[in-house]
Amino acid sequence: MRRGVGSVEADRQGEWMVRLIPGGASAKPYRCPGCDQEIRPGTAHVVVWPADERGDLTDRRHWHTGCWRARDRRGPGILRSRNAPRYG
Ligand SMILES: [Zn+2]
Repeated sequence: MRRGVGSVEADRQGEWMVRLIPGGASAKPYRCPGCDQEIRPGTAHVVVWPADERGDLTDRRHWHTGCWRARDRRGPGILRSRNAPRYG
């Protein structure tokens, strides 16, 4: 896997690393936290994880691309991390 693929997106909940997964690159199903539906193998989607936890990728989430783009319409709390945000 190449390094440096992806981008950082910031929203009101923080900064997220977002990596685009081409349709041919996924070999197993994932559960999308945006709609709670399965992302079927072979479906292009995105992987998102907190940008401030580069050393810990256990909190990655696989999203339908459209669900990720539309997350702001779903209200707060959808992408809550297991690790509570640290303030100050
Ligand atoms: Zn979805």
